[in-house]
Amino acid sequence: MEIPTAPTALYVVATPIGNLGDISQRALDTLRGVALIACEDTRHARALLDHYGIRTQTMPLHEHNEAAASARLLDTLRAGGAVALISDAGTPAISDPGARACAAARAAGFRVVPLPGPNAAIAALSASGLPDAHFLFAGFLPPKQAARRREIEALKGIPAALVFYEAPHRIEETVADLAALLEPERTLVFARELTKLFEQIAAMPLNEASDWLATDENHRRGEFVLIVSAPPPATGLSAETERVLKTLLAELPVKQAAKLAAEITGAAKNALYERALQLKA
Ligand code: SAM
Repeated sequence: MEIPTAPTALYVVATPIGNLGDISQRALDTLRGVALIACEDTRHARALLDHYGIRTQTMPLHEHNEAAASARLLDTLRAGGAVALISDAGTPAISDPGARACAAARAAGFRVVPLPGPNAAIAALSASGLPDAHFLFAGFLPPKQAARRREIEALKGIPAALVFYEAPHRIEETVADLAALLEPERTLVFARELTKLFEQIAAMPLNEASDWLATDENHRRGEFVLIVSAPPPATGLSAETERVLKTLLAELPVKQAAKLAAEITGAAKNALYERALQLKA
């Protein structure tokens, strides 16, 4: 069978994050039709390529050789050959190598063509059930606690859901720091082992997340996306006023709770009424 040749360009090809079926026809045609596939790990890529009977030549392109590998990739493009770029899983250059190769190819005058597909962050967001219109992809937090805490503090006030990647050996410390530094009523969504046999998506208030991890060792296994919902809207009310209002709301209708809370705290009745409606919703 004759394999069609892809026009000269650098094709940035998303590959599965677990389930080998999650790859587009266009991605498979491209991986077959290029002259060379630059892979984060050539042995890892073999499993995917062999599964689909793709025999295209491969070369390694990872964080430790990206500059030299990009030079080789440019040689192939200059000779008229098309090149595909893949990472071990998901979309290249998203918490993965590939950005320098894309920049180098474009700077040398070649087209850089994205072939969209799996990405753990977007898969997690799509099933999270969080209503937040905005999200910020933060990727991996720093491994050292002081730097990690500084970064969480810097992200805290951003009015958007926060999306993190995390590995199993750091999941407990990262969740503990998120719970210690962010508002306890924010929701944390664990998206674990997406598209794989033990896929699990669990949502809970942030202050219950460490207990959830502790209750079952399986909860701490595998690859994780963590999503923290957007911060609660600023109410202008003090923490003590919020506490009084919530206590009264647990027992009384909205109007009565707001009136009594205003008398107790001296805060404006209208603001308390608006906030009480939000809390009830
Ligand atoms: N480029 C990839 C993408 O598009 O999502 C991300 C690569 S990054 C090196 C690997 C991290 O992505 C993992 O540590 C985990 O946080 C997340 N991840 C990858 N696959 C996942 C999966 N199947 N389920 C949950 N998280 C996953």
